[in-house]
Amino acid sequence: MKVEQDARFREQRERFRLRWNCEDCALFDPDEGCAHGFPTHRHRASRYDDPTADLLFCKDFELT
Ligand code: SF4
Repeated sequence: MKVEQDARFREQRERFRLRWNCEDCALFDPDEGCAHGFPTHRHRASRYDDPTADLLFCKDFELT
């Protein structure tokens, strides 16, 4: 699912400490990548250093 990122989302991301990136997923290993073999570049935290990047939520995300 692709969602446009806006200022409201960025403010709420910090306020509610939202988690959706691979770094917060139980299936992610920094050396091996995704345990399910999915490409991670669109879900990594660094992608959102760009405030205009569309939000992409992984269907298999499992909060650690
Ligand atoms: S399941 Fe999704 S969020 Fe979790 S490590 Fe794999 S790609 Fe990242």
